[in-house]
Amino acid sequence: MSNSLFADANIRLERALKYVQISSYTEEKLKYPKSSLAVSVPVRMDDGSLKVYQGYRVMYNDSRGPGKGGVRYHPAVNLDEVQSLAFWMMFKCAVLNLPFGGAKGGIQVNPRELSKGELERLSKNYISAIADYIGIDRDILAPDVYTNEMIMGWMVEEYSNITRKQSLGVVTGKPLTMGGSEGRSTATATGAFHVIQTILPKFEQKPADTTVAVQGFGNAGAQIAHLLYEAGYKVVAVSDSQGGIYCQGGLDIPSIREYKNSTRTVKDVYCQETVCDLRENDVISNQELLSLDVDVLIPAALENQITEENAEDIKAKFIFEVANGPVTSSADLILEEKGIRVIPDILVNAGGVTVSHLEWVQNRNGMYWELDKVQDKLKNAMVKETEIIWKVAREYDVSMRTAAYIHSLKRLDDAMAFDR
Ligand code: GLU
Repeated sequence: MSNSLFADANIRLERALKYVQISSYTEEKLKYPKSSLAVSVPVRMDDGSLKVYQGYRVMYNDSRGPGKGGVRYHPAVNLDEVQSLAFWMMFKCAVLNLPFGGAKGGIQVNPRELSKGELERLSKNYISAIADYIGIDRDILAPDVYTNEMIMGWMVEEYSNITRKQSLGVVTGKPLTMGGSEGRSTATATGAFHVIQTILPKFEQKPADTTVAVQGFGNAGAQIAHLLYEAGYKVVAVSDSQGGIYCQGGLDIPSIREYKNSTRTVKDVYCQETVCDLRENDVISNQELLSLDVDVLIPAALENQITEENAEDIKAKFIFEVANGPVTSSADLILEEKGIRVIPDILVNAGGVTVSHLEWVQNRNGMYWELDKVQDKLKNAMVKETEIIWKVAREYDVSMRTAAYIHSLKRLDDAMAFDR
């Protein structure tokens, strides 16, 4: 039986509510998004024709501060998904104690089919459609799946034009030359790396003895593979939407990144001799990657990858969720039964929004920090909250996911006491 993504997301909340006392007001309010906006985004195509794309922006909650969350461009984007992602943003911001609520946006589009000019018009027209609902103190955008710095640049430009004032802080993840922050483009992966480095030593799991498989070789996936490779972990498999490669002896991640940049898929790296010392790399499917016998599995692509259908096949000892929502609530139970430790998305991938917060602060102050300062702040925040959630998990004898929800629910309830 498959739930809607949002219904499934709510099951995690229900599991945590068994352990934490929050007011019935908060409990009821958390079930519904504050507002869900659906917009039509018209785009003049290069051939002169007009196409209309479906866009969304959901503000889930703003009790702890303005809405915050990325914008996803993907053919499968729908309201159920955007609402779930906004819901997770609310918890993620509370986990990291950021002064933000949760929001998310998306456009149902395959950005690869658009020219650069069409993509610019799409991005700017999306901003024009939602301009009345966003703002520096209201709802702040950022990149997500298939959106990037360039798109953030167009968005802030359009918003500033509409409002007739410089409004850098309405979008984070901007290019450095347009008020972006040092360290933002690598923040999600770097944050995940700190979580991994905090958790694995608790199990005496050392980098050199740890094999890793990464599903998804986009911004976050490729970077986390690289960071782990540099730290001495053995990254044995990576994949993207086309498929993946596996090599028992470990892959040469830097050269795979180079190939991916030129060929667009890691699968084509197959024939290159340099990617694996032992030259036994093999092409595998995404499903095969997920069920490899590795120590650490990192889903870094889309939601619903590990479900009740394939959870039994998972052999990894640890799953670090770099993607949002890659494991369903029913898969959670199967994995727990098998003794597999899942470290949840709302902690693992929170590095992105943590540095988004730093970018927003810098935009407001007009003072910009060196990379070292941003990296220090990110590391301190990630390690601190990981340790707290680890303690909560032991105290309540629950999974790290339920612990993360317990931890953030207390903060949300405290803030929501003021809007009763
Ligand atoms: N899209 C990222 C996420 O899911 C970043 C959000 C942000 O920086 O606001 O966490």
